[in-house]
This record gives sequence, structure tokens and C-alpha cells, in this order.
Amino acid sequence: MSHAMQYIASAERYQHIPYTYSGKSGLKLPLLSLGLWHNFGHVDSFDNSRGLILHGFDSGITHFDLANNYGPPPGSAEENFGKVLASELKSYRDELIISTKAGYKMWEGPYGEWGSKKYLISSLDQSLKRMKLDYVDIFYHHRPDPETPLEETMSALQQIVQQGKALYVGISNYKPDEAEKAFTILKSMNIQCLLHQPKYSMFERWVEDGLLDTLEKHGVGCIPFSPLAQGMLTNKYLKGIPANSRAAGESPFLQKDHLTNDILSKIQELNALALQRGQSLAQMAIAWLLKDKRITSVLIGASTKEQITDSLNCKNNLHFSTEELSHIETILTQRPEA
Ligand code: NDP
Repeated sequence: MSHAMQYIASAERYQHIPYTYSGKSGLKLPLLSLGLWHNFGHVDSFDNSRGLILHGFDSGITHFDLANNYGPPPGSAEENFGKVLASELKSYRDELIISTKAGYKMWEGPYGEWGSKKYLISSLDQSLKRMKLDYVDIFYHHRPDPETPLEETMSALQQIVQQGKALYVGISNYKPDEAEKAFTILKSMNIQCLLHQPKYSMFERWVEDGLLDTLEKHGVGCIPFSPLAQGMLTNKYLKGIPANSRAAGESPFLQKDHLTNDILSKIQELNALALQRGQSLAQMAIAWLLKDKRITSVLIGASTKEQITDSLNCKNNLHFSTEELSHIETILTQRPEA
């Protein structure tokens, strides 16, 4: 990019969305945050990835979520994010909350996944190199490890904070009892866990079964991932499976057979209700998560700038009547006809 085309962030970027404290911490996160799991790897168009990041930032999204293994290939989302940081966002580093994680398989051998101190410390060092950063704002343990003592995993997080490689720490995919233990161990080390990142959407509701209460009790924020069930809770699949969709692509995480007749009929009914509320289904699905005040920020994915704008406009109707909420329950809990 030539000097004449140097990116300058929109002067109105902080006038679009609210920012909420994460749990009992002093850190505010935007209404929506942007995740780089899909659409930011070396297999994707770099121009599109850069456009999504800058459009998000111009729209008020200050928080970008990564992990060691995002791509494909693994690591390439961090490399691409690092490129955009170095060329366009360098002077905005202090306006950004950048997170990364380790927990899933990243390299061969016994030290390339799970929760040992060896893995977490080396993985974050690799992530910092790929993003060309001195520190990340939030470092997560990505999934609980049934084998490694939790004390070891938490002491790795403590060491990372003490070394200044992350300002805050979080955990992801921990069930309520595992999260409770992790928070207690961290507290004994004088570390407050900032955030928990669970999968939560209208189609995936395990967090309502104790996790949100545990987070509230410990003053920990909550940032749900896959709030749109990877695109199923949008208007994307109402008329079949478009070619430019995650379900039609190479992703092993959302495949055509996930779109069962039961899911499709629920999507149709939810879409009709969203239209009555004057919003898109994506907007209603996000607003439905934000109705619980324990939700700090909702972590969306996107393949186009228009999707980011559409999702952000959930802010225009965040209120649900009692009738709307019970209608949604009826749709979600009805069983498919045999
Ligand atoms: P979503 O449920 O938000 O799905 C995003 C997909 O939905 C997009 O790629 C797009 O699909 C479609 N979409 C998004 N907005 C719209 C819209 N307004 N209208 C129509 N379609 C839309 O989230 P993700 O599953 O992508 O996850 C979000 C983030 O959560 C990840 O990037 C990652 O940071 C984090 N995450 C964390 C995990 C963990 O274990 N901690 C696991 C998984 C995700 P399409 O590409 O088909 O256009």
C-alpha cells in the first residue's frame, strides 16, 4: 500500500456500539467482537481478511480473537492478522484487545497440545512471533485437559501474566465445576480470570445450566462463540446451501448434513419472528444472547463486511417481550414429527 493510501480509522468509530466491563474487571469489551477462526487463513483472500478487520475496527469493534491453530494452515490467521497490524493498525495498538489461545493440537509430539506448562509457554511465544507482538491482551487455555493437573495449567497462565506476555487470562470450553476450580486456583495465585469463552447460541445452551451462575459468582465475564451456530442462525440457509457458505466449503466443522429438516424448519420459524421484530435472524440470534446481562460481548465470525454491519445492527432492537421469549422457547424445544 502506498503512502497516499495509508489507512486512517474512521473518526466516528466509537459512536456505534456500547462497551461493557468484563465481569468485575476494569476492561470493557465491545458489544460484538470479531473472531478469526474461519476466513483469515492463507487459503483465504488476504484482501478480504484485511477488509473485514479494518471494517470491524471502523465500526467500533476493538476486540479481535485468535488462536494458535486458526487458519488453515494452522498459524496463518495469526500471521495475516500480524500483517494487518504492522501495515494498517500499528498506531492503533493501544485501542485493540487482541486475544489468542492454546489447547488444541498445534504441533507434533507430546508438547504440541493440551495443557502442560511446556506447551502453553512455547505456544504463546510462537503466537507472539507470528503476530509480531510483544504481548497479547488476553491469553486463553482453549480447552480443559483431563490429564494435566489444573495447578500446572493455571501456573502457566500466572507465569505468562508475570512475564508481561499477556495482560489478562481466560479459559474456554471449561464446564462449570472445572471453571470453578480454575478460578479458585488462579485467585490463590492473585490472578483474576477475565473471561470464559463458551459455545452458546439458541441451538447450544449448556451454559445456562450452571456456567453463567459460576461466572457471576467469581466476577468473570462471558464471551459466547459461534453465536450464529456458524451461520445456521441467519438467513443464509433459508433457501438451500449457497456455494459461498461454510457448509458448502471445506470446513469440517459445519457440513451439509448438519442442516437437518428439523433445523431448517426451526430456522424458518425463527426467521419469521425476527422479521416481525423488524430485524434479521442474525440480529435476533445475537440480541437473544445479549438479553442476559452476564454476557460481556458476543464473538461473531464473518466472511463479508456486510455480515459484520448486519450483525452489529442487532443494537437497534435488543429488547424481547415475554411473548417473544416464550415463542422462541416453543420453536427451539419442539420435536420434529416422527
Ligand atoms: P458465528 O456463529 O458467528 O458464524 C459465523 C458465520 O456465520 C460466518 O462465517 C458467515 O458464514 C455467517 N454469518 C455471519 N454473520 C452473518 C450475517 N449477518 N448474515 C448471514 N450470515 C452470517 O461464529 P463462528 O463459528 O465463526 O465463531 C466465531 C468466533 O468464535 C471464531 O472466529 C473464534 O474466534 C471463536 N471460536 C472459539 C472456539 C473455542 O473453542 N474457543 C471455537 C469456535 C469459534 P459464511 O462464512 O458461510 O458466510
